[in-house]
Amino acid sequence: MAPELHDVIVVGGGPAGSTTGAFLARAGRRVLLFEREQFPRFHVGESLLPATMPILDRLGALPAVAAHGFQTKYGAAFSDQESATEHTFYFLRGQPWPNYSFQVQRGDFDALLLDHAAKQGVEVRHRAGVESVAFDADGVTVSARHDGTPLTARAKFLVDASGRDALLAATLGHRERIPNLGKVALFAHFRGAERAHGRDEGNIQIHVFADGWFWWIPLAGDLTSVGCVMHARTVREWPGSLDALYAEMIRRCERVARGLVGAERVTEIHRVANFSYANAPIVGDRFLAVGDAVAFVDPIFSTGVHIAMQSGELAARAIDEALADDRFTAARFAPYQKTLERGLRPFFRFIHKYYEPAFLETFMRPRTRFVLHAVLSVLSGGAFLRIRWSTRVALEVLFAAARINVWARRRAGRPVESRLEW
Ligand SMILES: Cc1cc2nc3c(=O)[nH]c(=O)nc-3n(C[C@H](O)[C@H](O)[C@H](O)COP(=O)(O)OP(=O)(O)OC[C@H]3O[C@@H](n4cnc5c(N)ncnc54)[C@H](O)[C@@H]3O)c2cc1C
Repeated sequence: MAPELHDVIVVGGGPAGSTTGAFLARAGRRVLLFEREQFPRFHVGESLLPATMPILDRLGALPAVAAHGFQTKYGAAFSDQESATEHTFYFLRGQPWPNYSFQVQRGDFDALLLDHAAKQGVEVRHRAGVESVAFDADGVTVSARHDGTPLTARAKFLVDASGRDALLAATLGHRERIPNLGKVALFAHFRGAERAHGRDEGNIQIHVFADGWFWWIPLAGDLTSVGCVMHARTVREWPGSLDALYAEMIRRCERVARGLVGAERVTEIHRVANFSYANAPIVGDRFLAVGDAVAFVDPIFSTGVHIAMQSGELAARAIDEALADDRFTAARFAPYQKTLERGLRPFFRFIHKYYEPAFLETFMRPRTRFVLHAVLSVLSGGAFLRIRWSTRVALEVLFAAARINVWARRRAGRPVESRLEW
């Protein structure tokens, strides 16, 4: 018997897949979603951005997320060990997004979003890994394995939300590694780490030091996620085990070492390597990709979940229109691809600059409100979908000030070499 024809099959139940599926189901579309794992499952990427909150609201998931008891985050604190500079950025009020967001255990957050998608009408299959897809003139046939049993499903359209696995790029296209951002991250959760009080309790902290940088993400329930993103050469030159390397990085980063005195590590040490890439194709006849299946740059500004959910919302809108017209050519999804590429561009530029000590120093000392607001717009995630002219101009001012700082540092005999290629 031919399998039932769904409107859309989504591969992957992370934030990108559940957002795309839920928006489509809310528009009355029949959506089938395959997720390889049984949720909740561990995942990296715990710090959310304020600009994600309105998406959660439009999705109808905000009340459940807000009621869960995740740690609230009002700001981001940056420190640089080399220049002994520190700055805390507090998200602004009066923006199209609130002045806070959440620090989440991704196991819980992703399960909550996927449950929400199911409540909107998405048919969710856990423990169902998609193995292949075959497109024809009328639709797509998906072959999956559910608890070891093969199954086939059919739909008019396919969404690749398989994250870093990038099912379609891996099978139909290619992945391009982004030169120099091939860093390695080691991370774990601790209990009993140092905790700020009041409004600062949930701030993400980013500590830059010679071998890379640490994230310090306070989670609810006295947990703290501590991750080290290392330069490739730090890892290459290390003769010992990765666990010993993680301990050594903590020892070398004074702020982190101090914060972890008396803390107990309560998870294994996780590792991710070579995490920066851009995939192709992003759109095609009867398919498109969302979230990490499109690209991933660098975790420095915690943009991953935001881009995953924002791309999911944009994708759902484009697919809903295609379903209404019953036309699914790649050309009609070109504006979706363009919006994503345009949105990613400022982050690419910012991230490359971030590894220059002169830029980092200038970034941490914003001298005018004009520049500060632009930096906060990027840090909030607000610059992804729409970047105002005033923000653009202010960022150019910031980049120019950083160039002057290169000159000033050179004259003072201080390092100016970018750490990007280390
Ligand atoms: C070191 C590091 C730190 C990060 N820190 C942050 C941060 O602080 N904040 C932030 O916002 N982002 C962060 N990110 C990025 C964030 O983790 C991702 O951008 C985000 O998870 C992308 O969501 P997604 O839904 O596209 O993919 P994922 O969340 O990876 O979801 C993809 C899902 O697809 C499933 N899947 C894969 N293949 C198949 C298949 N064949 N069949 C069925 N299911 C399949 C997987 O099981 C998975 O559940 C970080 C990333 C890294 C590498």
